[in-house]
Amino acid sequence: MKAMLLDAARQPLRSAEIAVPRPGPGQVLIRVAACGVCRTDLHIIDGELTEPKLPLVLGHEIIGVIEANGAGAERFAPGERVGVPWLGETDGVCRYCRSGRENLCDHARFTGYHIDGGYAEFTVADEAFCFKIPASFSDVEAAPLMCAGLIGYRALLIAGDALRLGIFGFGAAAHIITQVAVSEGRRVFAFTRPGDSAGQEFARQMGAVWAGDSTAQAPEELDAAILFAPVGELVPVALRAVAKGGAVVCAGIHMSDIPSFPYELLWEERQIRSVANLTRKDGEEFLALAPAVPVKTHVQPYPLARANEALADFRQGKLQGAAVLVPG
Ligand SMILES: [Zn+2]
Ligand SMILES: [Zn+2]
Repeated sequence: MKAMLLDAARQPLRSAEIAVPRPGPGQVLIRVAACGVCRTDLHIIDGELTEPKLPLVLGHEIIGVIEANGAGAERFAPGERVGVPWLGETDGVCRYCRSGRENLCDHARFTGYHIDGGYAEFTVADEAFCFKIPASFSDVEAAPLMCAGLIGYRALLIAGDALRLGIFGFGAAAHIITQVAVSEGRRVFAFTRPGDSAGQEFARQMGAVWAGDSTAQAPEELDAAILFAPVGELVPVALRAVAKGGAVVCAGIHMSDIPSFPYELLWEERQIRSVANLTRKDGEEFLALAPAVPVKTHVQPYPLARANEALADFRQGKLQGAAVLVPG
């Protein structure tokens, strides 16, 4: 099969012909129909996440069709459409798994990082971590739900019932979660890279009541802010924008260093929280909610062979919504 391989950090992906993987016990073999590009993929390529298997097939926003079942796998029938997210395996027995926090599992293994992912024509996955995909989404439309949607949803839950919600960094996750937040009656304030007027216009189209530069003062106090941009400098900026008791939720897996700031910004019960990974419960809840909103994902499809171009466009902020790779 064709796959785009990461041989080592800070190198472009290499187009390669490799063996179709075999599904082990409890696993399914999936013919990949679409795989989203996530910022985490850039963190892996850049060596900021330091423990990838190598060579690695990236990609953890996978939509595809069951091609074959491994021994004992019977949750899905061949031909059924499934999605594969970032959380690929857990031990099921550690204190986090036993307390509804499998996202923090001591022995979690992640798709497109420890386990080969979806930048390929086929992939294998543990059937217990796959999701059924709502029929109202096409393959490319569904791909960004698998991480941008799921992690965004978890970040929104952690932001609590904030009515005035700031979102810093308006990419794939933000455009999905803005639609969810607006459908819940919240008001969204979008902060983009300074001067990104196209991104700000996109945010308003998605339902934001205000969009502006991340250096601008919010037009009113916020109840919470979610940071999708991996920029530590934004943490004190967001703290300054939230009201007493408000939360600043950092949704990325990696962030540049947070500069020191006066305690006054945190005082009055403001909080800083991170969001790590997802639970299967998050996924089931979000995939039931997304068609009801209904979420409309904005996607830019690229042929699988042009994965490097998709990653470069993403890195340069050229995309509105999500890049999705499609095997040829
Ligand atoms: Zn565990
Ligand atoms: Zn991701």
